[in-house]
Amino acid sequence: MTLLQISEPGQSPNPHQRKLTAGIDLGTTNSLVAIVENGTPKTLAAPQGQHLLPSVVRYLSNSIIVGAEAKQAATHDPSNTIVSVKRLIGHSLDTLTAPEKRLPYRFTLEKNATIPRIHTNYNKITPIEVSAEILKVLAHRAEDYLGGTLTGTVITVPAYFDDAQRQATKDAAKLAGLNVLRLINEPTAAALAYGLDQEVEGIHVIYDLGGGTFDVSILRLQKGVFEVLATAGDAALGGDDIDLLVMDWMLQKTTLESNIDGNIDHHTSRALLQYACTIKETLSTTEQVSVRIPSFHINPNNPNNSNSSDVSHGTHKSNNIHETLIHETLSDTDLGILDRNTFDTLIEPLLRRTLTPCRRALRDAGLHLQDITKVVLVGGATRIPKVRQLVTEFFGVPPLTELDPDKVVALGAAIQANTLAGNPTHHDILLLDVIPLSLGIETMGGLVEPIIPRNTTIPVARAQEFTTFKDGQTALALHVVQGERDLAQDCRSLARFELRGIPPMVAGAARIQVAFTVDADGLLSVTATERTKNIQAQITVKPSYGLQDQEIEGMLKDAISYAQDDLEARKLREAQVAAQQVIVSLNSALDTDGDTLLNSQERELIDQALQTLESSTQGTDAITINQSREKLEEICNFYVERRMNLGIQQALTGLKIDNVTI
Ligand code: ADP
Ligand code: MG
Repeated sequence: MTLLQISEPGQSPNPHQRKLTAGIDLGTTNSLVAIVENGTPKTLAAPQGQHLLPSVVRYLSNSIIVGAEAKQAATHDPSNTIVSVKRLIGHSLDTLTAPEKRLPYRFTLEKNATIPRIHTNYNKITPIEVSAEILKVLAHRAEDYLGGTLTGTVITVPAYFDDAQRQATKDAAKLAGLNVLRLINEPTAAALAYGLDQEVEGIHVIYDLGGGTFDVSILRLQKGVFEVLATAGDAALGGDDIDLLVMDWMLQKTTLESNIDGNIDHHTSRALLQYACTIKETLSTTEQVSVRIPSFHINPNNPNNSNSSDVSHGTHKSNNIHETLIHETLSDTDLGILDRNTFDTLIEPLLRRTLTPCRRALRDAGLHLQDITKVVLVGGATRIPKVRQLVTEFFGVPPLTELDPDKVVALGAAIQANTLAGNPTHHDILLLDVIPLSLGIETMGGLVEPIIPRNTTIPVARAQEFTTFKDGQTALALHVVQGERDLAQDCRSLARFELRGIPPMVAGAARIQVAFTVDADGLLSVTATERTKNIQAQITVKPSYGLQDQEIEGMLKDAISYAQDDLEARKLREAQVAAQQVIVSLNSALDTDGDTLLNSQERELIDQALQTLESSTQGTDAITINQSREKLEEICNFYVERRMNLGIQQALTGLKIDNVTI
């Protein structure tokens, strides 16, 4: 077992420091980032938990929003919200084909330029710039997780991308500040994720049904190298078309369509489509869903027109008002059950259309069905059981499905990036050592927050975000500890340092990233960065001596025998911290508007409960503390509500001013 040694950061020789790399699947509908950790690739989630980042970018007057929030805005703010930019990248106006031209954008070509620009209300941007925004978000996600700057990335592109499209993708990466180690073909990445490169040789089919596109590729593996033998596809066929079929089914079941002469407004149809998409995805794992839709407010004056590209400044605000979907629970329409069989029948003709490109690709490659070794499924829409059934029937072999079809391309890209950077692959990583005891930092209440768990293979880099506890807090003391116990006082103290110069903010607003890096020699360095102002800690990690094996054993034994005590202690500390948080924020609220929003009786009631909580935190009973906190919170409900209403009123007043100035 390697002993963990601590050295001053920057002074360690770090001869085998792992290079930080990531793989990015820059998709038409969704994009993802993956990294290799301990020899295994994994995709990374946003702080809210989603791995998939919708490939949607929204431009506002002074900010840019990427992902789910932007996607929500695509309906009411289409001209500033760019979707499916991958369909445009690397194209000149002449080479854009019908499906791309359907996108609701206005393009211009500047003098002497070849790259068309998309008009938003605020700027004219190139598809390269839009793609760069998506790449930036994903690269940051990886850097946040790894706690350092990426030295190289691999980005995937469809096998059919031509030179111009590949170059444009590289330019986007450059604009995002990324060092591209290589662009690799999406089907190749999928094959790598399945480890097909480890096999001697074979001919593999990659069947990729995404949101708006279908691609099939035939790869030949020979002497460890993949060669694309043929590609085919349909640029206007994907999961989105299935959503449309489900929406049609819903409309046929209602009187909605006849009521409005076949014209439903854009907002309503988007809402229905979104619902159809959920139904579709649910049916991949359940046999039936019951479909209920609320009644819709139909605006006869506004059929489908919010798609037009010349929507002017601020229009989305008014759209918001008159295109609102009104939920009237009483007049809900129950459309009955959509079962898997009906759904399958509904979509089968569409799915069969994917088989034509499959036949074409086989013919182009000069191959027959019996030549195929493996079939790999890629793309979210291949989760649909009917797709799997058709593919199995057509190719005569059950496809590989163990990996998430919407993550598989990113996973392969991460593997490739890791290999290209010369990092250990999953074969040699087994020879490497592990961290003997967990490494973490002390948080409020003397509790330990583990950052790198025990037995993690080194080298490793991990980061976590913390925030301030008090309003206006400008410094943060960090205490790095090692061990398995819940309380910092029972762990081994490794280093203490301070992050100063945090701009004063309300409690919880600062974003402090603490990054731990352990290199292949077991040397630890820790950095703390305040992210809103990018202030880095003056790192003073004190060198200390390595632990002996017996000491490690002793610490582990203690952790086991004190587990129950630790649990009790943790519960008490957590209750105290939660209570303290309520006390601090309540006091600050009372200072602000306690006098104006509360009468003296109400104030007294709150003060009493506050006092009870304060005195209970002095005790050692977690349950009593939690009960008094909950009691206080309950008593304060009406006060919180008043404060919120006040806040909303203020916000609305602000909005009006906003509207006037636009
Ligand atoms: P792209 O490669 O085009 O960026 P993805 O591979 O992420 O897109 O596929 C997106 C499509 O997959 C969407 O139409 C989405 O609704 C569909 N999808 C995702 N999960 C499921 C599921 N569980 N069942 C059916 N379709 C799904
Ligand atoms: Mg894809």
